Amino acid sequence: MYADAIDTDERPFVLIWEVTQACELACKHCRAEAEPQRHPDELTTAEGKQLLDEAASFGDDQLVVLSGGDPLARDDVPELVEYGTDQGLQMTMTPSGTNSLTPDRIQGLADSGLRRMAVSLDGASAATHDEFRQETGSFEQTIEAARHAKRAGLPLQINTTVCGETIEELPAIRDLVADLGAVLWSVFFLVPVGRGRVLDPISPECAERVMEWLCSVQSDAPFGIKTTEAPHYRRVALQQQTDSEAGPKPDGIGRRTGITAGDGFAFVSHTGELFPSGFLAESAGNVRDESLVKLYRNADLFEELRDPDALQGKCGACPYRNVCGGSRSRAYAHTGDPLESDPLCSFVPEEYDGPLPASWDGATSQVSGD
Ligand code: SF4
Repeated sequence: MYADAIDTDERPFVLIWEVTQACELACKHCRAEAEPQRHPDELTTAEGKQLLDEAASFGDDQLVVLSGGDPLARDDVPELVEYGTDQGLQMTMTPSGTNSLTPDRIQGLADSGLRRMAVSLDGASAATHDEFRQETGSFEQTIEAARHAKRAGLPLQINTTVCGETIEELPAIRDLVADLGAVLWSVFFLVPVGRGRVLDPISPECAERVMEWLCSVQSDAPFGIKTTEAPHYRRVALQQQTDSEAGPKPDGIGRRTGITAGDGFAFVSHTGELFPSGFLAESAGNVRDESLVKLYRNADLFEELRDPDALQGKCGACPYRNVCGGSRSRAYAHTGDPLESDPLCSFVPEEYDGPLPASWDGATSQVSGD
């Protein structure tokens, strides 16, 4: 099922459930500011199953991503994957690259019905990835886990953060994504929340060049590419007319590249708060007290985020606002208003003469050659 085929007023294309904030790693970009211990108020197994029941009522084949922290910090994850699968959900997961990701656990997840496993690579070598992840050995463990996933028949997704620290690595990471046989490369453009505030942001001009480069990679890559928190990739692709030439690559689940926070995307925190995204931590309510489905469809915050005419600044005046809309999470992180312009986009609509987002002093402008 493709996101274009669903009504995002009625249901998210992607529902993320942060099953725990616990994680052994202390990655530099961590949105969750993960900690070693599980939070005592996490949703329990029974509450999680209720949440999955509700997710299933959105409609057939609802996509659910179990994230963290490290979801494998919870022993009940295979049980939750099996339960969700039995309810008709497409269950996927983003485990951390630690030694908890053993071949047996990966096989167990595959046997439970997991549809895809996503692992993160923020460097193409042990030196660069482990520095970013602040953990010696994480690169090797991640590569091994990716290979085990393939052996277990699990489609593989690779997640990569784009920021000043990783930008030189992107061409080599692209090669690694192909070598590992991944079906999808998810390229996350940094939003400065959590520990990610200490990372080096890139400039809008640099982001533009990375997106142009991604369009050229997509034209002959054996995997799909999606951007996270950078829907203006769609605008760049349209301007390059690569959308009609290349079109989206099949990725085993089906996905467009333009869903945004609250509009096709929803995030349930480890304690049950419903946020438009993990990077836009403004709660619409708690799934312990209210229906997930009703909150997604009717909460004022979510309704506003789905209205392209509610957008402010140059995003509100932009002819691409229906296919892009900008990162609402980044607008919120920079201005406190999720409807403001996305400061990472360099596009200025013709005849727009209103205020422009403040520029980022010190942002990385250099893009590595390929
Ligand atoms: S101005 Fe806003 S809506 Fe237009 S392309 Fe840029 S981010 Fe997207």
